[in-house]
Amino acid sequence: MSSEHAVIRIDTPVTYIKGVGPRRSEALELVGIKTLRDLLYHFPRRYLDRSTITPIAKLRAGLDATIVGRVLSLNSVRTRKRPYLQMLIGDDSGQFRCVWFNSAQYIQKIFKPGDLVAMSGKVEYFGGLQFIHPDYDKLESDDAATLNTARIIPLYPSTAELKKVGLDSRGFRRLLHNIVEKMTWQAEEILPGALLETLKITGINEALRQIHFPESPIVLEKAVRRFKFEELFYLQLLLAVKRQGIKSVKKRFCYSGVGSHLKQIYQKLPFQLTEAQKRVIHEIWDDMKSETVMNRLLQGDVGSGKTVVALLCASIAIGNGYQAAVMAPTEILAEQHYRNLAKLGKPAGVRVNLLIGGQRKKERDEILNEIKKGTAELVVGTHALIQETVEFQCLALAIIDEQHRFGVVQRSQLISKGFNPDVLVMTATPIPRTMSMTLYGDMDVSVLDELPVRKGKTISRIVNVDQLDRVYDYIRQQVQKGEQAYIVYPLIDESAKMDLQAAIKGYEYLRTKVFSDFRLGLLHGSMKTAEKEAVMQAFSAGTVDILVSTTVIEVGVDNPNATIMVIENAERFGLTQLHQLRGRVGRGTKNGVCVMVERKRTETSHERLKIINGTTNGFEISERDLKLRGPGEFYGTRQHGFPKMKMADLLVDKELLKIARSEAFMFIKNDPHLRKSENRPIRDHLIKDYSEFMNFINVL
Ligand code: ADP
Ligand code: MG
Repeated sequence: MSSEHAVIRIDTPVTYIKGVGPRRSEALELVGIKTLRDLLYHFPRRYLDRSTITPIAKLRAGLDATIVGRVLSLNSVRTRKRPYLQMLIGDDSGQFRCVWFNSAQYIQKIFKPGDLVAMSGKVEYFGGLQFIHPDYDKLESDDAATLNTARIIPLYPSTAELKKVGLDSRGFRRLLHNIVEKMTWQAEEILPGALLETLKITGINEALRQIHFPESPIVLEKAVRRFKFEELFYLQLLLAVKRQGIKSVKKRFCYSGVGSHLKQIYQKLPFQLTEAQKRVIHEIWDDMKSETVMNRLLQGDVGSGKTVVALLCASIAIGNGYQAAVMAPTEILAEQHYRNLAKLGKPAGVRVNLLIGGQRKKERDEILNEIKKGTAELVVGTHALIQETVEFQCLALAIIDEQHRFGVVQRSQLISKGFNPDVLVMTATPIPRTMSMTLYGDMDVSVLDELPVRKGKTISRIVNVDQLDRVYDYIRQQVQKGEQAYIVYPLIDESAKMDLQAAIKGYEYLRTKVFSDFRLGLLHGSMKTAEKEAVMQAFSAGTVDILVSTTVIEVGVDNPNATIMVIENAERFGLTQLHQLRGRVGRGTKNGVCVMVERKRTETSHERLKIINGTTNGFEISERDLKLRGPGEFYGTRQHGFPKMKMADLLVDKELLKIARSEAFMFIKNDPHLRKSENRPIRDHLIKDYSEFMNFINVL
């Protein structure tokens, strides 16, 4: 099978490839490489060529550089403080030191004097120039000569398991060299032929060869562009397919008009709607009137007034005799929505019910019964809403608040409660355009791009521990004037015991030592529902002056009288989180102050706090956050299923993404079910390679 010039099929299992035995194929399978095709899609992580290598003599402190040279010596250096491993590397221009404090044994095992290596890192100065824990790659002994020509050497990603079977960067290079240079195979083109031509995209076989062993930087760049486009195109194709599906779902109910509720509520609102709010309500109403179901995302920065938009739309559904539901991510938020919506909905006599986890059985059964009979018109709740026992009479509008806090499955469960209800998803996390084109690429998007005019402004300060006394003095002064404050402790994960203890200890300290003459409340996620509710209510009513809390208040909590927000260990919070927290103050007519206490200062953490300090624009903040954390983490681990991009970078490849999106949507418009015979390879590839993501987007 693996003789040198025989034609080999692209889906041949890796075991049939020369140089891959059972041990290697097992290790390869662990990283998802099963066929020849998978191996060919194991792309280099970077490339070495003359232009990217710095001669040792030219290295300067602070420079990010790659050197190529031979290992001259390897020595363990014993010091009283911290023993380390030192490797000397030499090239034509000089010698250079690399240092390892950890994993010294491992390094000692894999390198020996005479080896040709590439080392990359930041040049540091400690009594001499050096790399500390550089990235390393072993090279072939004849690579030195290769690098003197204009050739480009690929460096491959690997894992500990793969390295054990010899598939480190060099091992992969040998294997792929054999496949690309010595074997004859043919991959099927999976991009539409017309696109390749108009967009000048390299064909698959050429691209697969050039991505591994590029002839020049220019053809390499073209190959990279091809695979980036391929990823983006398929992603958008899936979204287009899904949108197509939603748009073909017919509603089981219809609207005769907006009904009288809307007007009654609207006339009694304690404020004027902003133009943006009016526009968005029209957009939503247009969707509700349409024959096909709504699938809309409402984006609006903290404080942009999404709740009232939700209520007014719900009142249309209710005015037509249907039910509406609002699902919030936390009990605190659900309760707050419940109180607000009940108050705002009163002029129309809307019956609002609350359904959360901690309710007593009798109370719960009664509510469930009302939901089933349809007498509960607007139901507000947490994920308790999506339990099997909850049965709606006629759910026509499902609203999901702070959607990024929910998993997709939870969303779809709420939706399954209705007969294809209209879905409105709301988020306060302003999503950078490139992200929303992917994560919500199948939805229509409305944006509340205008904040209600408020008299108050919020200023932000970064302080260190030495300045805390002054902060506390300020709080005392303001509380004496009748204002209120939040003091927030980081509790990123509710199960983190240490963090919880720190928050409770902080509370005790503040209550007994700092603010003993004031009324303090404590709020954290592990408290019982009734306790939490009592504290929140006391804070809203003004009988608690200072609320000490964990991050549970991050989303949506609204108390216009609270003017001070102190964030402890601010360096531990994400940018978006800090922005949301800050949005809790300065909501009423008074000015707000947000104090970020920086306890552990590092360069990067300080940079982040400065971003928050420098802007109040939520979009800008989330764009920066995305840059700092990368798309994977942007939505937390809850958004698992998000396809990993090997090549494309949503931040860098914006233009390519736009093209891929419009082409993919056009493609699906022309062949909605991918039935045309020439589109068969594309259909097959979608089903085979994107099955996981298909599940991810299909649940809605
Ligand atoms: P978010 O978009 O963050 O969910 P909310 O809906 O909680 O914002 O609204 C924040 C505050 O602004 C609430 O107190 C709400 O009553 C108030 N509000 C909403 N719309 C307006 C408006 N058009 N004018 C003035 N205040 C408004
Ligand atoms: Mg809100």
